[in-house]
Amino acid sequence: MSLVIVGSLAFDTIHTPWGRREGIVGGSGTYCSLAASFFTSPKVVGVVGKDFPPAVIRLFKARGIDVEGLEVRPGKTFHWEGRYGYDPNQRETIRTDVNVYEGYRPELPASYRKAEIVFLANIDPDLQDGILAQVRRPKLVAMDTMNHWIRSKPRAIGRVLKKVDILFANDEEIRMLTGETNLIKAGKKILAAGPRLVVTKKGEHGALVFGRRFVFGVLANPCEDVVDPTGAGDSFAGGFLGYLDKKKSFSPPDIRRAAVYGSVLASFAIEDFGIGRLKSLTRREIETRFRRFRKLVSF
Ligand code: AMP
Repeated sequence: MSLVIVGSLAFDTIHTPWGRREGIVGGSGTYCSLAASFFTSPKVVGVVGKDFPPAVIRLFKARGIDVEGLEVRPGKTFHWEGRYGYDPNQRETIRTDVNVYEGYRPELPASYRKAEIVFLANIDPDLQDGILAQVRRPKLVAMDTMNHWIRSKPRAIGRVLKKVDILFANDEEIRMLTGETNLIKAGKKILAAGPRLVVTKKGEHGALVFGRRFVFGVLANPCEDVVDPTGAGDSFAGGFLGYLDKKKSFSPPDIRRAAVYGSVLASFAIEDFGIGRLKSLTRREIETRFRRFRKLVSF
């Protein structure tokens, strides 16, 4: 099959109680594409400024990521600054500079329009909608979003939500979207709005995959040193969708395995700042941790 990923390619400034990094490469599209590239050859859509390191674009190509849909424009790359406290599940956005994403409305390359899986990673929901209008007949569409867009563009999010099969969101975002505090009630509201599955990411505690007649819980890897939680959600989605793309199947057992691979990829992403750990990661390490996850929950 083929997987198209639309998201941000960014510079991030990260503050954690243990350290700070300024202007390191991040972005929802970056994390997601790298994570998916362990299973398939995703096609990325996004824009970067002239300041974006060519070495990262070379890394994408070396990983089999199709960059035909990646534009380099005069101007500055998207920049996000965030702070984490001692609880890695809580973060505060200090600033967001959309820069070259301002007014960006990409034309999808012809080969992208036939994609069978489309992932609308966290980005302006109007942009997500514009991408959907250009793909022919995908078998599966998934989306992610963030409090920034839920606050600033709730109607656009509602429009996209109606057209997707899977929503990835953390518990705070699901509560914001639905106004429900109970996650099961909130999940049901989302299912009534369009998606067939809601993947509720619960940070260092794992994720709950919730459908009308389907519930599956996956733990997160017990990790002593969370270095940088940024990108965990996008890496989860990349592992999840990359695996489904490789398997060419959306059967319930494959959805369960996809959720475990998602959790495995997220667990690696948080072990270093930025994309550091995803750069050095190997397929073998992924399989070893997958087996460890299986042991963790067998009783
Ligand atoms: P995650 O930790 O998986 O939820 O995603 C973190 C990534 O999202 C960071 O690398 C940021 O660059 C990116 N990001 C933050 N805010 C936004 C936003 N408003 N739109 C798109 N991407 C964003």
